[in-house]
Amino acid sequence: MTEELFRADSYLKQCEATVVSAGPEGILLDRTIFYPTGGGQPGDSGTLTLADGRAIRISDTRKGETGILHIPENPEAGLALAPGAPVTAILDWERRHRHMRMHTALHLMCASVAGDVTGGQVTAEKGRLDFDLPEVTFTKEELAEKLNALIAADHPVTARWITDAEMAAQPDLVRTLSVKPPMGAGPGANKVRLISVGEDAVDLQPCGGTHVARTGEIGPLTVAKIENKGRQNRRITIAFAE
Ligand SMILES: [Zn+2]
Repeated sequence: MTEELFRADSYLKQCEATVVSAGPEGILLDRTIFYPTGGGQPGDSGTLTLADGRAIRISDTRKGETGILHIPENPEAGLALAPGAPVTAILDWERRHRHMRMHTALHLMCASVAGDVTGGQVTAEKGRLDFDLPEVTFTKEELAEKLNALIAADHPVTARWITDAEMAAQPDLVRTLSVKPPMGAGPGANKVRLISVGEDAVDLQPCGGTHVARTGEIGPLTVAKIENKGRQNRRITIAFAE
């Protein structure tokens, strides 16, 4: 399996790695900083640089059966790579950082809106969550004010690992019904990663995504849309204000 360096440090922009295998389905490395599509967050893009200076553009990253697959823009490009070849993996950092900012913003939305989350999606421009909620009792402006206050408070965002058993004993921690908490992962396995926003847990939930270190880094947000998607389903879309 690929060592997932982005789990311990989401700010790594570059790493050295070794090719495990390369084929039409993608390039498997022994370790990576590239986040694979999952939990509503898109897979990373970037470049793999070879020892001879050649560069392979990576347009997407996905989970494969034996590890994390780096999908080359040109499907032929990966075929030139032999197992054991050293590469330097370099992220499209600005795009990933926007994913981190927007993903962390969705945690703030979780903290600001009552109701279970039934789905979600992040892009480099906006993010949305679907809530199991019979009615909305706030305006777009009121929600935006709440979110921007949490951002301005510059709360720290921290991670810690608990055991699967500890997780199972606290089912109320799981806000996202559609996404199974990332259990059975982490150092020594049988661990789940809890993400906490704020010292007094503004938001606390298991999550496998990438986050910024402090909420201030998100920057100002606007609430773009509050939509009815069925009797109980309310979809809220936020966007970067800049
Ligand atoms: Zn998260």
